[in-house]
Amino acid sequence: MTEALLPARHSSLSLFSALRRLPRPLEGLRVSPTGRAWRETNLDAACHNAQVLQNALPAGCRLMAVVKADAYGHGAVPLSLALQREGVDAFAVACLSEGIALRRRGVRGTILILGYTPPEEVPLLQHFRLQQAVADLSHGEALSAQRIPLRVHLALDTGMHRLGIPAEDKEALLTLFHLPHLQVEGVFSHLCTADSPIPRDAAFARRQLALFEDAVQCIRNAGLNPGAVHLQASAGIWTLPPRPGSAYARAGIALYGVQSSPGCVPCPLPLRPVLSLRARAASVRTISAGERAGYGLAFQAARDTRLAVVTIGYADGLPACLTQRGGEVLLSGRRCPMVGRMCMDQLLVDVTAVPQAVAGDTVTLIGEDGGREIRAEEVAQKCGILTNEFLAGLGHRLPVVCR
Ligand SMILES: *Cc1c(COP(=O)(O)O)cnc(C)c1O
Repeated sequence: MTEALLPARHSSLSLFSALRRLPRPLEGLRVSPTGRAWRETNLDAACHNAQVLQNALPAGCRLMAVVKADAYGHGAVPLSLALQREGVDAFAVACLSEGIALRRRGVRGTILILGYTPPEEVPLLQHFRLQQAVADLSHGEALSAQRIPLRVHLALDTGMHRLGIPAEDKEALLTLFHLPHLQVEGVFSHLCTADSPIPRDAAFARRQLALFEDAVQCIRNAGLNPGAVHLQASAGIWTLPPRPGSAYARAGIALYGVQSSPGCVPCPLPLRPVLSLRARAASVRTISAGERAGYGLAFQAARDTRLAVVTIGYADGLPACLTQRGGEVLLSGRRCPMVGRMCMDQLLVDVTAVPQAVAGDTVTLIGEDGGREIRAEEVAQKCGILTNEFLAGLGHRLPVVCR
């Protein structure tokens, strides 16, 4: 891990210090991104995963990197730029502001907004050369009514009933192709059970696939060009047969090298976790057997106990329940249990097993330390949430440090 200060473009804290001139004696001093708690993004692992996923796709099908929600908490800008250097040229985000942020920081190629954008923001879509998913017929009509050329991908609803034109509604589909100002660059749908090992769910995914391919065929039969056709997200890459003619697979969670939940069909590809989460020991003290600690005095020491205060809390996006559900950290290569109630900005850890622990030590909440590892999946599982939910919740107070 690098302790070097990260380039200003990776941290809003350092941006602040860059904008305001400091008095002479403070010049050159910056808030260290690794001083308190931080996300550590392994760009090599992300590029490795992108390569592995790309290699698993059929000929002609390209990886679209899904970097919504700050790249599932990994830092969308540095991650997208690193993938771009490796040849990835298509990205997907959830909303307009995420798309603009990528463009402003130099991401080229296709950026597709998967979620809803209000029609009055079409000028921004055009200015930043963003492609927009069309949520349904009335969204398409409202976008078209702005009278500004706009590149769109038609979302098809093949059974998830989230966004999309009903795949059976051939009339609406063909209408959208003929709306003025809209240029259809692609047609896509989203699978909602593709990661499930249950036969009924797998059958549903195949039904979605059949509906999708039927709608695409109908577009072609009408003499229209559907453009880039894409269906699979991460799980579909390894649970569905390769789709000839697919332009993209939209991978999110797989790109980050983790599994959504233990109930998913396991990924057979050699992916590597990308994120580590670290903080500092602020203070280490001994309390006597029988003493209590923390809010509500929720922890009681069964023996003389070394307690470390760790500089991360639920305001950083760590689920508050984790300390009560067997949460652990790594310190000097040993697993140490969290104790008591999590605070907004801090938590307590029993470090009795690490007598050499001192204030300033680096504490690992996710990732490797001394040959041991805590995985994001483990934390999410303890808290009963998806790994996606845990990662996406990691807060902006955690600077992203790349290595
Ligand atoms: C979030 C999202 C993805 C990525 O899903 P993963 O399972 O994380 O790969 C793909 N497509 C759409 C439409 C999405 O909303």
